[in-house]
Amino acid sequence: MGWNRKVLRVNLTAGTCTPEPLNMAWANDYLGSRGLASKYLVSEIDPKVDPLSPDNKMIMATGPLTGTMASTGGRYTVVTKGALTNAIACSNSGGFFGAEMKFAGWDMIIFEGKSPKPVYLYVENDKAELRDAAHLWGKTCWQTEETIKASHQDPLIRVSSIGGAGENQVLFACIVNDLHRAAGRSGVGAVMGSKNLKAVAIRGTKGVSGIKDFPAFLAAANAGKKVLADNAVTGQGLPKYGTQVLMNVINEMGALPTRNHRDVQFEEAGKISAEAMHEKRPTDGKPHLVTNAACFGCTIACGRISKIDETHFSVKNSPQYWGASGGLEYEAAWALGAANGVGDLEALQYANLLCNEHGMDPISFGATVGAAMELYDLGILSREQIGVDAKFGSAEALCQLVEMTAHGEGFGKELGLGSARMCAKYGRPELSMSVKGQEFPAYDSRGIQGMGLAYATSNRGACHLRGYTVASEVLGIPVKTDPLVTDGKAELVKAFQDATGVFDSAGICIFTSFAWTLADVQPQLQAACEGDWSMDKLNEVGERIWNMERQFNLAAGLSAKDDDLPPRLKTEPAKTGPAKGLVNGLDKMKPEYYKVRGWTPDGVPEKATLERLGL
Ligand code: SF4
Repeated sequence: MGWNRKVLRVNLTAGTCTPEPLNMAWANDYLGSRGLASKYLVSEIDPKVDPLSPDNKMIMATGPLTGTMASTGGRYTVVTKGALTNAIACSNSGGFFGAEMKFAGWDMIIFEGKSPKPVYLYVENDKAELRDAAHLWGKTCWQTEETIKASHQDPLIRVSSIGGAGENQVLFACIVNDLHRAAGRSGVGAVMGSKNLKAVAIRGTKGVSGIKDFPAFLAAANAGKKVLADNAVTGQGLPKYGTQVLMNVINEMGALPTRNHRDVQFEEAGKISAEAMHEKRPTDGKPHLVTNAACFGCTIACGRISKIDETHFSVKNSPQYWGASGGLEYEAAWALGAANGVGDLEALQYANLLCNEHGMDPISFGATVGAAMELYDLGILSREQIGVDAKFGSAEALCQLVEMTAHGEGFGKELGLGSARMCAKYGRPELSMSVKGQEFPAYDSRGIQGMGLAYATSNRGACHLRGYTVASEVLGIPVKTDPLVTDGKAELVKAFQDATGVFDSAGICIFTSFAWTLADVQPQLQAACEGDWSMDKLNEVGERIWNMERQFNLAAGLSAKDDDLPPRLKTEPAKTGPAKGLVNGLDKMKPEYYKVRGWTPDGVPEKATLERLGL
C-alpha cells in the first residue's frame, strides 16, 4: 500500500507523543511527503502565523516510495511556514533518515507547540518519547549525532538535528541528517530551534511492508534503474562529477551569477569546477575528491566526499577538519564561490563544512555574503562594521564570515538575517538577489529565461528545485528549448512545477528527472500504492499541490507583487556571453503563466481551477 498509515503527533508544549491514523482520503489526493504534509499543515495552522511562534507547526514526512527499492527512495521532507520567507516551506533531504522513519513504522511526524526546555525526540519503532537535550544544546549537528548514537549505544540510529544556527534562529538555518545531508532551504532549522527541539533520533527495524503488488513493483523499480544507468547524465555525468559538472557548462552559456549577479560569467569558474575536484593539488599531490557517495537506495550516487588541504590557511590549525566529509555540490560551490568572486576551492570546502556542521543553508549564506560584499564595495558598509576586509574575491573574508555567522558573533548576526532583511536595513533592498526573501541558486535568469519565471513564481521563494527548466533549456531534457527566449516558458515552467510536486511527494530524488519523466515513476507508484495512480491522476495531483501551496501563500498575505525578480535582472543587461545585452523577460512571461495556470491577472486561482482540482 506504500504508506504505513500512521502519523506520530508530538505536542512539545505538553510533552506528549500520540499515534494517529494517516488520513487516507488525503493520501489519495496528495500522495505523500511534500503534498500530503502540506495538506496537513494548511489544514492545521493559521496562514498568518509567525513562523517562529509556538503556533507554527513543523512536519517531517516520507513518501510512499521512501524506504522501498525504488532508486533514490530515501527522501524525506520538512514542511512548515518558512522563517526566511513567511511562505509555505518544504525542504527535502536525502541520506538515510527518511528510510529509517519509514522502517520505524511512521509516515509522518507532526511537531506542534514549543517545549519549555530543550528536548530531542527518540523513536524506536512504535516507541516514541521526548528526552532532555540540555547536554546537546550548544552542540553542533555533528556532535549531536555522535552524542546521541553513543548514549543509546546504537550506531545505526539516524539523526536529524539543528546546530547553533537553528538554536540562534539564523533565518536560513537548516536541519542536517547523516552529517552532510540537509533539509536546507527556507529556514526550517530556525523553526525547529524556536520549538526547543534539538534533534530527532530514529531507529526502525520493521522494513517496508505492504507493497501492493510486489512482483510488479520489482519489475517497475528495476526498469527505472536501467533507465537511470543508461542515461548519460544519471549513469555517467553525475556519478563521476557530481552536480558540480554544471559549473563550466553554466559559465560558458553566460548564466553563472557572479559577484552578486553583477556579472554572468566567473573568470575563475574552472578552479571551482567538478574537473578541479579531480586534479591533484600541488601541496600534497592529492585530489580534493575522495569518492562519490549515494543516499539510501540511490543508483546515481551524485554525492561528493572530499578532503580539504591540511595546509590551507582555514584549517592548518584545526585538525578536526582534516577528515573526509561531504561536498562540494554545485549550488554550494557557486554560492560560496562565484557569487562572491572567490575561486579558492579549499576555502569553499571549509565554508561548506561549517555550514554542514552548524546547520546553515550554504546557498542563502553564500548569496548573503555576496550582497554584503557589494554593500562594502559601494561604501555602504565599512570594514569596521563588518569586522573584515570584505572585498569581492576574498577567501579570507568568506572564511571569517562563515565562522562569525555560525557562532552568532559580530556582523555574523546581520548575515544571519538573510540578504533581504540585511539589504533593507542598510537602505538598498534592491541589492538582495532573492524572491520572497529567499536567495537565488546558481542560475542567472538573463541567460536562462525560464528560470526567472520559475524563481519568481516558486511557492517557497527563489529555488531551482521547484521547476528546474535548466533541464530543458540547457540539457535538452526531456526536449530542448532555447534558453534565451521567453516564448513557451509559461507552459514549460508549469509542467516542471507540477511534475516536481509528484516526484517530491513520492519520496524520490528530483535528480532522477534528468532521465525519468512521470511515465517512469507512474508504474512504480501504481505497483506500490492502492488506488488509481494513472498519468492523468499524477498530473492532477501535481497541479493540486501547487495550487494548494499558492492558496496558503495568498492567505498568508503574499500576492502577485511577490512573484517578482530584483530590478537588476530586469534592467541591467548581461555584460558577456551568449546572453549579452539581455535582461529577463519576466514581465512578459508572468501574465502568460497566470493564464496557463487558470489564475486571474492578479495571480489568484480562478474558481473553476479550484473546483477542477477539488480545492
Ligand atoms: S542523486 Fe544524489 S542527492 Fe539524489 S538521492 Fe542520489 S546521491 Fe542523493
